Amino acid sequence: MKITQVRLGRLSVPLRVPFKTALRRVDQVNDIVVELHTDTGAVGYGEAPPTGPITGDTAGGIVGAIRELIAPVILNQEVDEFETLTAKVQKAGVHNTSAKAAVDMALWDLYGQLHNIPVHKLLGGARRTLVTDITISVNPPEEMAKDALDAIARGYDCLKVKVGDDPALDTARLAAVRKAVGNDVCIRIDANQAWTPRQAVRILNEMQDKGLALELVEQPVAAADLEGLAYVTRNSWVPVMADESVFSPADAMKIFQTRAADYVNIKLMKCGGITNALRIASAAQVYGVECMIGCMLEAKIAVNAAVELACARSIITRVDLDGPVLCSVDPIQGGARFDEKHITVSDDPGLGIHGIDPGYFFEKK
Ligand code: MG
Repeated sequence: MKITQVRLGRLSVPLRVPFKTALRRVDQVNDIVVELHTDTGAVGYGEAPPTGPITGDTAGGIVGAIRELIAPVILNQEVDEFETLTAKVQKAGVHNTSAKAAVDMALWDLYGQLHNIPVHKLLGGARRTLVTDITISVNPPEEMAKDALDAIARGYDCLKVKVGDDPALDTARLAAVRKAVGNDVCIRIDANQAWTPRQAVRILNEMQDKGLALELVEQPVAAADLEGLAYVTRNSWVPVMADESVFSPADAMKIFQTRAADYVNIKLMKCGGITNALRIASAAQVYGVECMIGCMLEAKIAVNAAVELACARSIITRVDLDGPVLCSVDPIQGGARFDEKHITVSDDPGLGIHGIDPGYFFEKK
């Protein structure tokens, strides 16, 4: 199986409601889709969202990186030379992790199809149903309480609440959400780098004092401030998860070795795809640090790749793959089945993606 063509397109899907965090507001998924065509007729699918505030990647940047850096090193190559091929993708220029993730997952898709086996089984996993949390966007407290109740009515029992755009209001926001949903619902929060280390410790301990019973806080401080992150981990009563601080496997190792966080959030778009996510998961297993698998605002192709990985690594104990359920429609044929909090992996070879509904997909010439 030889790669004969790299085709690019744009996938546009409106969100059910606007997605708001301390860093941004988004109304629509507008992702780049990669199709790797082969001489056997098999097609490998990949997807990458432009998430400028987190990865630095723009739609134009993803397209440029794939066309100018990555496509030249994979065209006319044999898919069976898989390890060499995935290594070439990672070495095709620095950064551009979203572009690399899209091509890397498309290669895993092809390799699975070549050997007629689903990616999660290639990785030693089993067919599983995962349970995801759902994101509650940052808004006035009453609105967040209402959104939380809506999520519970849809069957979710774990909420990921965005905070941090106005620290003075954060405790009130969480108190409103906790009061609305009661004590049986898991609440994790994500500050997306918004706090200083001292502010984080003060706010988090105040929240626990008020009985808000938070499961964990994601990325309380600036991504580059590992000392600050470690300070919060040592001094806060709420366990800390590193997200924006961990892109590469080397970043993850730094966190594991210094114990700067209690948990790590793995996202394909930060580390460059399944290949590097596996390295992070392996290192996490060595250090006994539990991981969450997360996503950006992604439709089902990219999230599906994360699902395949999560079914194969038990160190991934938490699932935050709500991209597809935040979308108003699912234009992707095949792949995992998303039924609110339940995600059931596909048993088809590769990633199991069969195509994209026309009307949501626009080919880039
Ligand atoms: Mg996060």
